[in-house]
Amino acid sequence: MQTPFIIALDGPAASGKGTLARLISEHYGFAHLDTGTLYRGVAWLILSEGGDPADGDVAAHAAHAFDPAKIAGADIRTKEVGAAASVVAVDPAVRSALLEFQRRYAANPPNGASGAVLDGRDIGTVVCPAATVKFFVTAGPKVRTHRRWLELVAVRPELEEATVYNDLLERDARDAARSDAPMVAADDAELLDTTHLSIDAAFAAARRVIDGVFRRCG
Ligand code: C5P
Repeated sequence: MQTPFIIALDGPAASGKGTLARLISEHYGFAHLDTGTLYRGVAWLILSEGGDPADGDVAAHAAHAFDPAKIAGADIRTKEVGAAASVVAVDPAVRSALLEFQRRYAANPPNGASGAVLDGRDIGTVVCPAATVKFFVTAGPKVRTHRRWLELVAVRPELEEATVYNDLLERDARDAARSDAPMVAADDAELLDTTHLSIDAAFAAARRVIDGVFRRCG
């Protein structure tokens, strides 16, 4: 079996990496793992049992016992779960418990796919340092806030954009400052700033990079 073609997409919340990852995986017929769902899933399990995401023992236990089936149908996209996810994500025991799952997925993409797209914060640096193509997707904080607010306000009309802005900056800071696998661009990542790009333009830019690698790989 050939080594899978791995595409790593890292970057901060609401940078556009999730949408890009989905479009890329559909276009090339690759599997897609949104690794944020693993951290959100662990956080959701803890919160749903009334636990404290900052309690290291609780977080490590939840991460070791984690199974995606346990969060089927759960609403993990809320801002509370996002904030708790970035708290559990600081814990090295949580990260190492989730690392194997992510690496196995990349090494054996489901349904016989010849490649996989993984999006997160540490894919190009820690999970798949030998990924075939790496992107670090960014956008200015005001633009990211507005995108996230538009998603959240649909179900929470009272939500203020300023609250989303503060939450986003707090999460960025926690994700970038942690000592284990901080959010940082890999040295060999392509930087993709989507501040002034439509999703179609960002997708076209990503395809140009990926197609160039395909051509070089023959
Ligand atoms: O991408 P998403 O917003 O769903 O991620 C939620 C949180 O999970 C992030 O803020 C981050 O703390 C954590 N995470 C991580 N490493 C990843 C993916 C997500 O630390 N690869």
